[in-house]
Amino acid sequence: MNLQQLNATLSARLEAFQQSPPEGRGATVRLAPMAEIAGALALDQGLREGLGGAGVERFLDAYLGYVTRLHSESFFAHQTAAPNPGSTAAALIDGAVSNPMAIFEMGPAAATIEYALINRLLSLIGWPAPPWPEQRQSDDRYAAGVLVHGGSLGTLTALVAARTQVQPDLWEQGNDPRLCLICAAEAHYAVQRAAGIMGLGRRQIVHAASDARGALTAAGVEAALRRARAEQRTPIAVIATACSTSVGAFDPLDEIAAVCAEHGVWLHVDAAHGGAALLSPALRGRLRGIAKADSVVWDAHKMMRTGPLATAVLYRDEQACNAAFEQEASYLFHAKELPGFDFLHRTIECTKSALGLKWYLALAWEGEAAVARYIERCFALTRYAWERICADADFVAAVEPEANILCFRPLVAAGKELHLRDRLITEGEFHLSTTQFAGSRWLRIVVMSPNTSERSIDRLLERLRELATAAD
Ligand SMILES: *Cc1c(COP(=O)(O)O)cnc(C)c1O
Repeated sequence: MNLQQLNATLSARLEAFQQSPPEGRGATVRLAPMAEIAGALALDQGLREGLGGAGVERFLDAYLGYVTRLHSESFFAHQTAAPNPGSTAAALIDGAVSNPMAIFEMGPAAATIEYALINRLLSLIGWPAPPWPEQRQSDDRYAAGVLVHGGSLGTLTALVAARTQVQPDLWEQGNDPRLCLICAAEAHYAVQRAAGIMGLGRRQIVHAASDARGALTAAGVEAALRRARAEQRTPIAVIATACSTSVGAFDPLDEIAAVCAEHGVWLHVDAAHGGAALLSPALRGRLRGIAKADSVVWDAHKMMRTGPLATAVLYRDEQACNAAFEQEASYLFHAKELPGFDFLHRTIECTKSALGLKWYLALAWEGEAAVARYIERCFALTRYAWERICADADFVAAVEPEANILCFRPLVAAGKELHLRDRLITEGEFHLSTTQFAGSRWLRIVVMSPNTSERSIDRLLERLRELATAAD
C-alpha cells in the first residue's frame, strides 16, 4: 500500500470520526483496563508480524474505539483544542517531511513561517515586529519570539530569560540565593515546576494577595514587591495570568504593569489560554495592558484550533530574548552569511518540529476571522451555561465566567463532585473535570468543541441533576 492509498483510507475514517460525534454511552470517552486496550490493538502481534497496509486500517479502527473525542459536542474536560483541518494537514505534512527547523538550513519554509507567524502574534499584542532578517538595516529595537513545545516549557523559557536579565553572571555563578518569583496562589503549576527546575525552592515563590476570582490585584503585587525588597530579595519577575486555569479569570494587566514598571521588575504574562482573545476585537479588551509586559506565553493548542503542541514565547525586547541562554555550541552557533534565521539560541530545545506550520495552517484554513468567531462562540456558550445555572435553584456557580471556563456544582450533592464526575466519565457521554477553587472542589467545564451548542449544555445539566439527586 503506497502513501496515497494509505492516506485515502485513513482520511475517510478520520473524516467520519470528526464529523459525526455520536450521543450516548461512550460517545466522548471510553475508559477500559490497559490490558484490554492493548489486546484490542493487538500490540504484540504488530511488533511480531508487522502491520502492513491493511493492518494499519484494522489498527486505526481499534484505536478509534478507545479515543477521547475532543470533537464531541459533549467534551467539556480540558483546555485542549479539537484540531481543525488546517492543523491536521500540518501534522500530516510535517509527519511526512520532518524538517527540524530550529536552524534555517533544516527547514527554510518552516522557519520562514515561524518567523512570519511570530511577527503576526507580536503585532496582535501591539509590539513592533522585526523586518525579514535579510532586510534589516539598523539597530532599531524590535520585539521577538520563538515557538516551543507547550506552555510549561514556554513558561520555563521566559522565566530563564527574565533571570538572565536580573542576574547576568548567572550562567557563570549559578543562582543568587536572594532570587524570587512573585505570582498568585492560583498561578498554573507550570510556574512552580519552572521555579524548581531553575533551582528556586518553594520559599522563593512569593504569593501576592488575590481577589475573590483568584486574580492578582495591583495592590497585592505592590505589597509583595515591597515585602520582597524589605527582605532584600531580588524578584526575577511578577507572573500574571490571562486567564486562570481554574475559573478563567483575567488579571488586571494594565494596573499590574504600572506597578512592575515603577519597581523595575519584569512582568511575565501567562496567556497560555487567554492570549487567543487578542484575535477578537470584541474580546481583546480583557488583555488590556498586555503590551506593557516583558514576556508573554501563548498556546496554540488551547484556543487556536491546533492539535498539541505549539506555544509562542514572546518578548517585548528582542535582546532579552536573544540573551536568554548563554551556552555556545560552535558547530551550530556562528556568524551567518547564508540567508535565513536560526531560532536555536532562543529555545531550550535543539531539535524541534515545524510548529509554525501547524499554527499557521490552523489560522489560514478559513482565515483569522473564522478562528476569532470560534473563540467568541466558546465564550458566549460558557456565559449561556452560567446564566442557566444562575436561574436554576439546583446549581451554583463559583464566579461569573470571563472566558470559556466555568466552575459550578449541583447543590444537593455538595461534597460529591468527584463522585459525580467519575459517574459521568464511566458513562462516557459527557466529559468534564473538577478543580479546587477558593477552598472547595467544583465541577469544571471548558467549552472547546466546535460542535458544542446550547442543547449540549442543557443536556449536561439535566444529566447532572439526575445523578446529583440519585447521589443525595
Ligand atoms: C495550559 C496552561 C499552561 C500549561 O501549558 P501546556 O501547554 O499544557 O504545557 C500554563 N498556564 C496556563 C494559564 C494554562 O492554561
